[in-house]
Amino acid sequence: MTPIYLDYAATTPVAPEVAEAMAQCLTLDGNFANPASRSHRYGWQAEEAVETARGQIAELIGADAREIVWTSGATESNNLALKGVFESAGKDVGHLAVSAIEHKSVLDPAQWLAEQGHELSLIAPDSSGRITAQAVASVLRSNTRLVSVMLVNNELGTINPIAEIAQLCREHGCLLHVDAAQALGKMPVNVTELGADLLSLSAHKFYGPKGVGALYVRRSPALKLAAQIHGGGHERGMRSGTLATHQCVGFGVAADLARAELERGSEQKNSPEQVAQLRDRLWAGIAGLPGVRVNGHPSARACGHLSVTFGELDGELLLLSLRELALSTGSACTSASMAPSYVLKAIGLSDAEALATLRISLGRYTTEHEVERTIAHINTVVGKLTAKVS
Ligand code: PMP
Repeated sequence: MTPIYLDYAATTPVAPEVAEAMAQCLTLDGNFANPASRSHRYGWQAEEAVETARGQIAELIGADAREIVWTSGATESNNLALKGVFESAGKDVGHLAVSAIEHKSVLDPAQWLAEQGHELSLIAPDSSGRITAQAVASVLRSNTRLVSVMLVNNELGTINPIAEIAQLCREHGCLLHVDAAQALGKMPVNVTELGADLLSLSAHKFYGPKGVGALYVRRSPALKLAAQIHGGGHERGMRSGTLATHQCVGFGVAADLARAELERGSEQKNSPEQVAQLRDRLWAGIAGLPGVRVNGHPSARACGHLSVTFGELDGELLLLSLRELALSTGSACTSASMAPSYVLKAIGLSDAEALATLRISLGRYTTEHEVERTIAHINTVVGKLTAKVS
């Protein structure tokens, strides 16, 4: 039997509308040219398509199109934001504060900057995975240059109080970077309301293609970033490289679809509200199992996320036994061993609990039937494994 896909937080399938638009930007009879070719109409058409897509993304997040810098994904956006801010200030040592449960694509560049001599603080989450403004305030220093806090945590789904954190950063005179890779399409994301100076986006988390993302870079007052990829001076010198028209166009259509879905609201099939209802139904169907509990914030949580700890069952065995489901553990999987997730440990789970945790993530194409099948399967498998343990 084909496993039920419940790993939407890892990636999403491309929406059919997106695939169709992308396919029109590849072959000779399509919009295939280099958007930077200025000497012929093929190039102008490609440029127009890329600029339309830039506008679609800007509209989704309430930005100006000139504030969108194309990248290859949120990993690159995060690298550009952190390294770009620090390198633009020359050799001056500065302080950087990042939440301890950021994605590795924030934590690793932060660590790299610390190795270059900058000062780094990790901001601790509370037990629901929230980074509070008070926790941020407690690490700020006179030389703090940048704070980086994600909007939605990728393992827990917990939503952070970014507007409050932004207010604090403004008062303190430092910049705020927000990794919004897990938020797009699941909730309204507006850069003005959030107060972010920099915001990372990724297309493949919300029904766009893999391999394309963007960094919102505030224009007023203008923000200077040192390029991390040097070349032809594309993207106002911040990120060189020929733009992949089909990827940009796909990202733009995904943004339009997400905006329409959010605007139409809860009535619409597979709206974020409906995904949340399916997620809550799933939880209700497994909550009676012995020792199970949900991780993350009870209400400030993105619609598709469900991080569940199954007592102290062996997570790897559990994952292998749940053959009808395609999902992931809450753990970072290294080649040799399963290491307990640093996110789960940071919110107070023991190694054993972290290893007994699964991240179930639902999305636009999850059906009620799939949820009922998932409930039945988890109950059967966990029942058997628990009987073996006791
Ligand atoms: N940040 C977060 C919060 C993520 O969940 C991910 C994807 N796992 C990334 C960054 C990296 O995004 P990309 O795959 O587009 O590089």
